[in-house]
Amino acid sequence: MSDVRVRIAPSPTGPLHIGTARTALFNYLFARNQGGVFILRLEDTDAVRSSIAFEKDIVDGLHWLGLTWDEGPDVAGGPDHGPYGPYRQMKRLPLYEEAAARLRAADQAYPCYCTPEELDAVRRRQEAAHEPPRYNRRCALLTPAQRAAFEAEGRRPALRFRVAEGLISFDDMIRGRVEIDTANIGGDFIIVRADGTPLYHFTVVVDDAAMKISHVIRGEDHLSNTPKHILLFRALGEPEPHFGHLPLILNPDRTKMSKRKSQTAIADYIEQGFVREALVNYLALLGWSTGTEEEVLSLPELVERFDIRHVQKAGAVFDRERLEWLNGQWIRRLPPEELIDRLRTFLEAELEAGGIDRMPSDGELKALLPVIQERLPTLGAIGDLIGFLFVDRLEIDPSLFPTKRWDLATTREALVAAREVIAAVGEVSFEADELEPPLRRLADERGWKAGDLFMAIRVAVTGRTATPPLFDTLVALGYERTLERLDRALEASNQEAPR
Ligand code: GLU
Repeated sequence: MSDVRVRIAPSPTGPLHIGTARTALFNYLFARNQGGVFILRLEDTDAVRSSIAFEKDIVDGLHWLGLTWDEGPDVAGGPDHGPYGPYRQMKRLPLYEEAAARLRAADQAYPCYCTPEELDAVRRRQEAAHEPPRYNRRCALLTPAQRAAFEAEGRRPALRFRVAEGLISFDDMIRGRVEIDTANIGGDFIIVRADGTPLYHFTVVVDDAAMKISHVIRGEDHLSNTPKHILLFRALGEPEPHFGHLPLILNPDRTKMSKRKSQTAIADYIEQGFVREALVNYLALLGWSTGTEEEVLSLPELVERFDIRHVQKAGAVFDRERLEWLNGQWIRRLPPEELIDRLRTFLEAELEAGGIDRMPSDGELKALLPVIQERLPTLGAIGDLIGFLFVDRLEIDPSLFPTKRWDLATTREALVAAREVIAAVGEVSFEADELEPPLRRLADERGWKAGDLFMAIRVAVTGRTATPPLFDTLVALGYERTLERLDRALEASNQEAPR
């Protein structure tokens, strides 16, 4: 086992976000490729915004993606596991207290008595003078008497970390040499609030040190935090981990990916019927590539090929079409039993919503697989694709008659003629090969385009303009029901629809 130890450290203040899932995946791939350890740590110190429901969404989402961790917190009733626990920050408060006391004793952090109003006034003055916002260090050099005076006023101090002047530099695994002048990080920063709650920059460093994290791999939005973290590692006398900052995920218009412009919650992708294989595959390619033409890769294949040095620096544009394409590829690769199994939830939802009147049996689904497996873009599209087979009374949107490129008289004439031809084929020979030739002949005889005739039949028996291949569809529907639906469509098309 190598000494590679990486972590995903989500805050349960929202559902599992696509960016967090990608960061988790890259950490997982790095750990597995290097024979290291992958850790889940819950950063739940924001008591107001954190919730158990979000925590569950995150944990379930990571499980669903197949990103299993080696050490992690006590989720879903299970125990905390790993030698460096607890793995949720709210259970680690004494560790932060101890580290804060150490920094304070060494005068690397000092009590700050400024009120929010006072800090606000400083910020406004800086703004007016077009200066960058930074703490004015009013409390940096207080004498014990001055501190006592503030205390006597009833002020409770926050703890501020002293930022030393100078250049912080590190070799980012993705971005190469990074240098940041500590003059540009906003001055001395708060590590523990006046009410005693420790803040992110502080807890993340205390924990990364305590958990012996060797590589911190996270989103580029954290790049400006890293100098603060490096200063804290040094102040605590801890070795600095390696850092790697993953490129941002961008909306198609190249702005930072946001809920407003893109779908960002993993749960929504699951609900629409994206399969884990495709989502993992797609997320891995958001900012990384094998350097070859290979695109469709399983999790073990990704582990084998992953190389963090091949992660790009430039932002990665989220391309939903590519994700859908990959999803189709993975649906095609699923073993039949597995696909049927995964379709169940979606069919049940369809039944509940009244889209179908009964659940298809496993046998029925199996018979349909050749026509659906090639065509499903998402599992959630199953109702659209075959739902018409499982409704008792098909309602046809009257605006679909007459069918494309035809008038009502021709549509009706075609349906009458097609009914005759199909009835003549008979129940015994009701097979795709037996149906197609006489129906093509019919179109020839009447001078119709075969496609127009087939469209009229398709709309009549399915209520839709796009379906699996027509003759397979008729066979799946069966002889009786095909004729019955043609009859009903003829009745329905009797009245001209309002246009
Ligand atoms: N809780 C932080 C976040 O969700 C962790 C960032 C980090 O990886 O350091 O953004």
